[in-house]
Parts: sequence; structure tokens; C-alpha cells
Amino acid sequence: MMRTIQRLAYNNPIAIASLLFLVCACGSAKISGSAAIDPGIVARSAWNAAEPRPYKQHVPVRITIHHEGTRLDVADDAAKKIKNIQTWGMGPDRKWTDIPYHYLISPAGVIYEGRNPNTVGETNTEYDPSGHLLICCLGNLEQQRVTKKQLNALTRLLAWSCKQYNIPDSTIASHKDYSKITNCPGKNLYRYLQNGYIKSNVKKLLLAK
Ligand SMILES: [Zn+2]
Repeated sequence: MMRTIQRLAYNNPIAIASLLFLVCACGSAKISGSAAIDPGIVARSAWNAAEPRPYKQHVPVRITIHHEGTRLDVADDAAKKIKNIQTWGMGPDRKWTDIPYHYLISPAGVIYEGRNPNTVGETNTEYDPSGHLLICCLGNLEQQRVTKKQLNALTRLLAWSCKQYNIPDSTIASHKDYSKITNCPGKNLYRYLQNGYIKSNVKKLLLAK
């Protein structure tokens, strides 16, 4: 992947720019101990999801946070955006089996169901997403701010996912922690991982009865 990108960079700077622009493309409902912090997940039907192709299975053992990488504001149609991500990902550009992420969160703080969490996600970068539960915050969070509602929804979804999939909260990280060629999830979200805000609030939710 890296060699391809380097070659493209020499031959076609526009191609590399669009590749890096898209670089992020990054369930089942079983409620038990996680019911107390059920974040309220909107089903795939709400964004008119196409049927997935056959998947590669995995068991998620860590959680990795992304941003989508293109601007989206609170007033914009998040469901339509998610549908477009799926259409692009399953199309001739990528030929993926489904939308690349397991969950997506809009700037308005709505959490949407993505691909089946028991299947391996997708990426345009050099890390292997096997074992990663991929959560994507919509928007370009390198350039726009994270809304309070989006950040709160992310925290709730992270805590719920830790319980639902039996994943230690110590594994919560972001795309750029695994890849040298992306700034995903954007500096405006990454700072909340760096300063401990996200992890400490997830811990509080996990300890709450
Ligand atoms: Zn990413």
C-alpha cells in the first residue's frame, strides 16, 4: 500500500491527494450487562443500507476511533452521507463487502449501525483492521470542531461497546495510533484521547450502576 502511494505521489500528485483524502475508510443486538448504558443505536434501515456481500469474520478485541474525513455539519443529512459512504466503498473504487465502519456518529450525536461488528472492517491505510471495532465520527475533525453531542455519543458508545463485546477500555485508540500515513481522527478529536477526557469518561460510565 505504501509503495503504491509513493509511486502515485511521484507520478500523480492529484491522485495521491484524493487517496489521502479518503484515507479513513475506516450488529447484532445482544443486550445484557450493557443495557444500563445502551447508547441508542439507529438501525441500518434508517440509512437505507444495501445488503452486504459475504464477510470475513473476526472477534473484536480492541476499539479504534476514526473520523470520516469530509465536512459534515449538524444540519446536514447524516443518513444520506452514510449511504454515500457505503455506495462508494462497495463500488468499483474499493469493492468492499459493506460500509467500512461498525458504527458511525453524526455531528448531531446520533449513533448509526454500520457493518456487522463480528466482521473485519476496511481501511485505505497500512494497518490490518482484523480484531478492531471501528467507530467513525462523521465530519472532518482536523478542520471542524467536535460537537458536544458527538463527543458524548462517542463516549457512551465506547462504554457500551466495551461491555457488549467484552473489550478492555485500555484498548481504546485511534487510527493514527496504527498508521503513519493518516491524521485520522483529526486533531480536534485526537486531543480528547491525548488528554484522557474520553477514557476517563468511559471509565465513569463503566463503573456507574
Ligand atoms: Zn481513519
